[in-house]
Amino acid sequence: MTIFEKIATREIPAHIVSETDEFIAFHDVHPQAPVHILIVPKRAIPRISEAQPADGNLLGRMLLASREIASAAGLAEGGYRLVINNGPDAGESVPHLHIHLLGGRSLQWPPG
Ligand code: AMP
Repeated sequence: MTIFEKIATREIPAHIVSETDEFIAFHDVHPQAPVHILIVPKRAIPRISEAQPADGNLLGRMLLASREIASAAGLAEGGYRLVINNGPDAGESVPHLHIHLLGGRSLQWPPG
């Protein structure tokens, strides 16, 4: 089981902000911005490059859910960034697909 599956099954504690039967959102343990939430499918797709066409609806629902999660975190007005790290060059450290939702400060572009 991945660490994020263990969070979904409550084996590992996390500050959960929202949950459906398909995915879960919780605060990143090492936040890179005042708000840093991870949106994670309960089914462990390793990374976006390994997602299948059948995952499309789930991934779409996760993206759409980010709007409500961002609003609930107070980011609707200031804005926010969604990030998916894929593979070693992108800094992927947990092999379980997740969307980073970052906000609460001015974010730089391009990213490091
Ligand atoms: P990535 O580097 O894109 O794979 O992102 C993995 C993220 O998971 C990092 O930002 C970590 O800080 C975060 N993370 C790792 N373990 C936990 C945990 N137990 N609870 C919350 N976030 C975690």
